[in-house]
Amino acid sequence: MARNYHEPDPFRYALGAFIQAARSTTFMLAKERSAFDNFDWYSEWVEKAKKDPVLAWINNARTAIVHRQSLEPQSWLEMQCIGNPRQPEDPDDEDYRGPLRGQVSPFECTHYYMNTGGPWVEDHTHEFTRHWGIEGLEGRELLEACADVYDRLDELVRDAHRRLKASMLSHGRDNSPRSLPCMEDIIKHRVIRTTLRDGREYWDSEPPGLHSH
Ligand SMILES: [Zn+2]
Ligand SMILES: [Zn+2]
Repeated sequence: MARNYHEPDPFRYALGAFIQAARSTTFMLAKERSAFDNFDWYSEWVEKAKKDPVLAWINNARTAIVHRQSLEPQSWLEMQCIGNPRQPEDPDDEDYRGPLRGQVSPFECTHYYMNTGGPWVEDHTHEFTRHWGIEGLEGRELLEACADVYDRLDELVRDAHRRLKASMLSHGRDNSPRSLPCMEDIIKHRVIRTTLRDGREYWDSEPPGLHSH
């Protein structure tokens, strides 16, 4: 999901796969109930989960297929021009035209907006900031919400293993608030920069393996 944050369709599919995987975690755990002497702790967890907004959202999502319409009202993409010599950023400059940022459709991938300026554009930087939100989880950013879901389920599965005195592998770093290290800094997945150089626009730290245009 993080890798595809700037690729709307792959992001949607990854989100669907995450929802499905999250649900099958509790489903599988419930199926293993006979392994535990007492399963009340799980029923208690289920009751608590109903009051937890991110877990309630995972549970209430009708299907794992995430439609564009469910993302549309709460998602956005902002594009900002930085350091364009033709467009001064100093408000005192007589050529100043206001801050160079604008909202564009989040349903086009970031590649789509690159190299649209033409070869005459002077060297400068573009910053793309995205926010994915979904119905049923108003006011939350999706990557962070999913990282929360992951942490809650990780804790649940860990607890189940403890009760069975079984050991379990951990991906988390010591003292990290997240069980997945790549989710510690979500902003780096959401905000990316491109550089215009000699009429070409380059994505500075593009995740490997995205499609080419
Ligand atoms: Zn620009
Ligand atoms: Zn793309």
